[in-house]
Amino acid sequence: MTAMPDASRSEAATALVAALVAALGDKAVLTGAERPARNDADWSTLGPQAPLAVLRPTTTEAVAAAMRICAAHGVPVVPQGGLTGLCGGARPLAGSVALSLERMTGIEAIDPASASMTVRAGTPLQVVQEAADAAGFLIPLDLGARGSCAIGGNASTNAGGNRVIRYGMTREMILGLEVVLADGSVITGLNRMIKNNAGYDLKHLFIGSEGTLGIITRLVLRLFPKPACTVAALCALPDYASVVGLLAASRRGLGPMLSAFEVMWPDYWETVGAMPGVRVPLPQGHAAYCLIEAQGTDETFDAPRFEAWLEAQAEAGLLADAVLSRSVADVKAFWGVRDACSEFPQVLGPHESFDIGLPVAAMDDYVRACKAALAERLPGAFALFYGHIGDGNLHIVAGLKGARPQPKDVIQEVIYGLVREFGGTISAEHGIGLTKKPWLGHVRSEAEIALMRRLKAALDPDGMLNPGKVV
Ligand code: FAD
Repeated sequence: MTAMPDASRSEAATALVAALVAALGDKAVLTGAERPARNDADWSTLGPQAPLAVLRPTTTEAVAAAMRICAAHGVPVVPQGGLTGLCGGARPLAGSVALSLERMTGIEAIDPASASMTVRAGTPLQVVQEAADAAGFLIPLDLGARGSCAIGGNASTNAGGNRVIRYGMTREMILGLEVVLADGSVITGLNRMIKNNAGYDLKHLFIGSEGTLGIITRLVLRLFPKPACTVAALCALPDYASVVGLLAASRRGLGPMLSAFEVMWPDYWETVGAMPGVRVPLPQGHAAYCLIEAQGTDETFDAPRFEAWLEAQAEAGLLADAVLSRSVADVKAFWGVRDACSEFPQVLGPHESFDIGLPVAAMDDYVRACKAALAERLPGAFALFYGHIGDGNLHIVAGLKGARPQPKDVIQEVIYGLVREFGGTISAEHGIGLTKKPWLGHVRSEAEIALMRRLKAALDPDGMLNPGKVV
């Protein structure tokens, strides 16, 4: 294949931009000095890559027009939400156009009878949560990036977050979707019913497909009853066997009240404890720390029930120490310890982050094996372990202090090599994007990857939507 000469490439780009401006208006097409640098990268460590232009459409029709024009010019489109993704899915590709949903925001409707809410895809998660709250409902999806991530990005990554143990992942919270396909056709499936078995449930193709199969423009979300009370405890545990025991006991004893079960290993606790503004209410030196949250329907009954359950666990020897929340502020402060990981880029300097999945019982063995392998292959490397252990999801941040670039390949080889050995997954919730693509074969069979490619080819035969990501 002969490469296009620079002059022809620049003419082609000028023609594309002119066509986009004519269709969408100049406020929706940013190029040159007007193009915001923030759209050049997401939260992954891949660094910036400038797109040809940043598109900021305000309607589904404009998204469709943009797709049609870009397809006609053979220029791929990278959908962007809040750019908080951690694996490069929203990072532009050289010669691509970034299509940001940032101006497609707002709540279109709340239907209390069907307990559903119709929202535009660029709406920040926190705005969606607050609107549900104001209407007397709960959107249970919650994650540290809530203020910046967009609900369309959450759907595209099938985000997990803090309350999966009770409510499931984003997939379980979506009733319907409107999607623009690579050829610009619009599929409006704004279903509001919980049950709808009329043929293939197409929304599931797009949820978790990281912008490779379609651009989500609107969503119907399922609303849940707002809990009357939320209580939490931070616990110190004597060993990992107690973590496994406590998880089983919390499922049994708290039943549907159990809304989070987060675990932090000692290195995490020490690091976060040294961060200004974070109050860790339990001393260092324990084998594991656990944040347990329960949501109830009756404060006078459920809060004492949680306390009694916790006391019973202490008596059973599962706890070395614990603090119980006495107010909403306490619950927030406990979550502050867990959410402090969002400051790690500033605190730890350059590092790699991981969100693997493992059988719960094997997790501590994995942590030990990982530390040992890192110490052997990269003397001086650090690794902190924490995560949504109730869902079998372990987060790891690992790096070599001050090293630029980070020895990414070795760190990935260690972490993903052991994931395969332990029968886990390379991504429990963040997705594959670009950074994990080389490792997909570790956890998906050839037949599964071949089927993913067939689906991609069927919906986007010319590779116009986020090409090169995921598969
Ligand atoms: P982006 O980063 O903009 O995009 C992510 C992917 O979705 C890209 O592939 C992009 O092309 C695609 N995309 C975006 N919008 C659309 C759309 N409308 N249509 C089609 N494709 C689209 N994730 C979790 O799952 N659980 C956590 O607990 C969690 N905690 C986090 C904490 C912090 C501090 C940070 C920075 C991130 C965290 N994440 C977590 C990762 C991230 O927040 C989620 O993946 C989030 O869902 C991404 O949303 P976004 O709007 O920022 O998407």
